[in-house]
Amino acid sequence: MPGKKICIVGSGNWGSSIAKIIGKNVKASNRFDPVVNMWVYEEMIDGRKLTEIINTEHENVKYLPGHKLPKNVIAVPDVTEAVKGAKVLVFVIPHQFISKLCDQIKPHITEGTIGISLIKGIDEGPEGLKLISDIIREKLEIEVSVLMGANIASEVADEKFCETTIGAKNEANGHLFKELLQTPNFRITVVHESDTVELCGALKNIVAVGAGFCDGLGFVSSSTFLESCGVADLITTCYGGRNRKVAEAFVTTSKSIAELEAEMLNGQKLQGPQTSAEVYKILQKRNMINKFPLFAAVYQICFEGKAVKEFITCLQNHPEHM
Ligand code: NAD
Ligand code: 13P
Ligand code: CA
Repeated sequence: MPGKKICIVGSGNWGSSIAKIIGKNVKASNRFDPVVNMWVYEEMIDGRKLTEIINTEHENVKYLPGHKLPKNVIAVPDVTEAVKGAKVLVFVIPHQFISKLCDQIKPHITEGTIGISLIKGIDEGPEGLKLISDIIREKLEIEVSVLMGANIASEVADEKFCETTIGAKNEANGHLFKELLQTPNFRITVVHESDTVELCGALKNIVAVGAGFCDGLGFVSSSTFLESCGVADLITTCYGGRNRKVAEAFVTTSKSIAELEAEMLNGQKLQGPQTSAEVYKILQKRNMINKFPLFAAVYQICFEGKAVKEFITCLQNHPEHM
């Protein structure tokens, strides 16, 4: 059986880094055609077409300068030409262009084609949030997985070690994409919850903008949050700590925090509930309880008999949303 033909739809910073990986991996596997098409949105660079530069110098001089692309990655300026004969489509363009692009390529999609979206973003649909992968699914009527992770394109291109996540509703496709995309320094975990993977990838960009605002305003140096005391400790405590363990038991047993602390910790002391009480007092004094609904709800649940099932409601009624 001939190997599946791949088309990378996109050739920006991330697209070009991924092209480096795919170009190499297809040569090592007999499941894929050894020649990969890469759709390049054509533009002129110093009087030359970008596709020509890529096909002669094997470098995307604008979006990933300093990195050679494998010679079996062929830049194609016409997207309908690029996807012709492709059975595997790798979507990696800024999300605002996806809808129009799908309309252009729809007539050229053949039975059995599958896709993977590396696009971090969402769209607004008539009934609310719309996933980019859903736009692709609906417009092209193909099965779509996603790949999202803590991956900076230039670092991946530099072959620095990092991990990433494939979300695949179809397990076999997830494993095919893993074979296509994994390298010794780009390690892939495949999970079933594709929509969650995609939402994580899209929404973290908003947080990143907020982090930039804070730095620009000189509020805090976010680098401190990247020390062990910051995000790492937050993740650690939420997975493995005593506070989370007792809080979980609080819900499942209906005993009080004090009872559970005595029962479960053998003299060790919980810090979370007490701290929530201290913070609550300070917020109360400053008339700021409404601004910290999560902290306030933790306190009220631990000490004031507020029903734990109200926990999410406190966020639904966040003053910022009103
Ligand atoms: P990019 O930010 O480098 O965007 C430039 C690309 O958009 C170029 O290929 C350009 O030709 C193309 N473009 C410009 N105008 C266009 C048009 N009218 N129609 C179609 N294409 C047009 O792109 P990227 O970094 O490859 O990002 C693609 C996706 O990958 C984004 O959703 C991004 O969030 C995600 N991503 C990026 C990184 C990263 O480090 N760059 C890492 C992970 C995920
Ligand atoms: P930026 O688009 O903010 O560069 O983030 C790249 C990314 O997705 C890192 O995971
Ligand atoms: Ca982005």
